[in-house]
Amino acid sequence: MTGLSRCLYCTRRTSPADGLAHAFPECIGKNDSTLPEGAVCGPCNGYLGSKLESQLVRYPQIALSIQMAGLPGKSGVPRKELGGIESGKAHGEEWSFRMGIPRPSIADGPDGTSQLVVEVPPGKGFSFLRFRRAIHKIALESLALQEGLEYVRSPEFAAARTYIKNPKPADLSWGFAEAPSGGPRPMHAVYFESGLREIVGVNILGTLFVVDLRNSGDLGALAVQQSVNFYGPEVREVPVLRLFAEGKRVTE
Ligand SMILES: [Zn+2]
Repeated sequence: MTGLSRCLYCTRRTSPADGLAHAFPECIGKNDSTLPEGAVCGPCNGYLGSKLESQLVRYPQIALSIQMAGLPGKSGVPRKELGGIESGKAHGEEWSFRMGIPRPSIADGPDGTSQLVVEVPPGKGFSFLRFRRAIHKIALESLALQEGLEYVRSPEFAAARTYIKNPKPADLSWGFAEAPSGGPRPMHAVYFESGLREIVGVNILGTLFVVDLRNSGDLGALAVQQSVNFYGPEVREVPVLRLFAEGKRVTE
């Protein structure tokens, strides 16, 4: 196989010198989701890491999960600050973290309750377009781990491979759905198959991002049916994470 492999994205011949590619990026956490040797060439791997995967940690929900848990970055230590959120610190029994974000607001809810609303915007330099491609990249490569490299090299996934590495036009946008997910594994993929679709859910630190690797247009309807958030191709506004805390007002 060595010397005969071709890059999944640009079809250039690869060699062991190209190094190993991870389906799940290590900027989220150390993991062993490596693709077979020669699956992705060095330049493509470098591009995907620096231009796409770097966007994942700026997404509000992911940034908050990383910083609350004090998860280490690629350097092995927690990030001092990410998207305006400082790393969580334990002080004996108490635990705190600071957010350089707009002032929380307090709203009156029904039945004498009060709501504290905290808004977490995306980190500086966030690109929603590149973020979308990053989650499609994880989905495609997770599928490669599950079904084998040849499977995702098939013509059915040609559009997905192009969208991830070199979209035309450059602002091409594919939809995705988002829902909270539980589970003990911080990063994994789940697969949904139905008819001509290849729908993959990527769980990143408690949030499930669902993409359709054939971009068939059915994901939006599926999201509505499942009552989960859907960001269609036309949604250009970056989602702001809203955290609510509700409490009953105490009157003396
Ligand atoms: Zn390549």
